[in-house]
Amino acid sequence: MAVGSDKSGGNTQATNVAPLGHNEPPYRRMYNKAVSDALAAVRSEGRYRVFADIKRNLGDFPNARYFKDGETHDITVWCSNDYLSMGQHAVVVEAMHKAIDDVGAGSGGTRNISGTTHYHVELERELADLHQKEAALLFTSGFISNDATLSTLAKILPGCVMISDEMNHASMIDGIRRGGGPKRIFRHNDMDELEGILASVPLETPKIIAFESVYSMDGDFAPIAKICDLAEKYNALTYMDEVHGVGLYGPNGGGVGERDKVMDRVDIIEGTLAKAFGVMGGYIAATSELIDVVRSYASGFIFTTSLSPVLVAGILASVRHLKSSSRERDALHERADALKAALTKADLPVMPSPSHIVPILVGDPVLCKQVTDKLLDEFGIYVQPINYPTVPKGTERLRLTPGPFHSDEKIAELVSALETIWIDLKLRRAA
Ligand SMILES: *Cc1c(COP(=O)(O)O)cnc(C)c1O
Repeated sequence: MAVGSDKSGGNTQATNVAPLGHNEPPYRRMYNKAVSDALAAVRSEGRYRVFADIKRNLGDFPNARYFKDGETHDITVWCSNDYLSMGQHAVVVEAMHKAIDDVGAGSGGTRNISGTTHYHVELERELADLHQKEAALLFTSGFISNDATLSTLAKILPGCVMISDEMNHASMIDGIRRGGGPKRIFRHNDMDELEGILASVPLETPKIIAFESVYSMDGDFAPIAKICDLAEKYNALTYMDEVHGVGLYGPNGGGVGERDKVMDRVDIIEGTLAKAFGVMGGYIAATSELIDVVRSYASGFIFTTSLSPVLVAGILASVRHLKSSSRERDALHERADALKAALTKADLPVMPSPSHIVPILVGDPVLCKQVTDKLLDEFGIYVQPINYPTVPKGTERLRLTPGPFHSDEKIAELVSALETIWIDLKLRRAA
């Protein structure tokens, strides 16, 4: 399949493009070999990633078109992080149309050099208010907000010990690593081990506990109040990734922190604008001074063009809508419960998850990919396999993300397809 040919359907993965070549200078061989060895390694571990080439249908979520071998197939998406389909909500789409007609496509600069539009200013106020903090700061993605903030805090707090849950997202791990300071890792949600680490660091040494409110691959919650108790006892700051909580929990969509009434106890809340809010971007919310220092020092904030005002207008509409409407959230949680019940009834290995995320254990990367290939090719159901390094080896899984528009019929279709595949591939039933 050649890159960009009709057959590839525009997909970007080259599977067997001819090597550049016979008349290349010999020194190139070592570079070519390193590249192909690295690719061979991911392939041999069964975790070579193939992106499904799709187009979502506006107003018809979760239906989409799938492009393969020059043909188009109708599919149902079961793995979107646009949890509430706000990315297709009329208020969001309209706000974006309006903005593009008002100011055009791009922001035209970094935040410092002509790229702070009034949309950005309004959105930062809105996000600060959502989390009941003094201020908020926008980034071009949630990944960058974690990476930029944690690495900056490590630099302005010399000697600060970063204390990180072992299941933290790659963006936090990268930020902590780039910060270059000391770090300690505690077993997932293990408060005894966290306390042991805190107690082993002198009280006067700065420390930051970094964790997530909802862990996106297992769907479990952090004991936020307990983490805050420990932080207070041992003079630590708290940094919470609410990426899978914002928009989905709490009466205003402020996240699990809002639901559990502990938002005010968490020092820095980080979120995405790409998942429940359905658009793109990331942010942190904290005290004015803390926001000011990240704004002033974080290169991942400073040296990049700000988000398009068109996106920001859409986000603003989405955040405001979910602040006042719980309909979408309530529907999502009801659908997640219905899906879990149906899977459990069919004796499929649903991993226990108290949240809206529904993981099904396969436990092998090759089988996991076979399951999802069959779902897509034979049943028109799109679920991306979740393999290492996103999850630990041996816990490869399907990760289902039901939304308000996954009907009972869609659930029945999915469960019946999974039952057939589970029998075909002789997979384990119990989680
Ligand atoms: C997706 C994700 C991010 C990154 O957010 P983006 O806006 O997609 O860059 C950060 N943390 C967690 C836990 C995530 O799942």
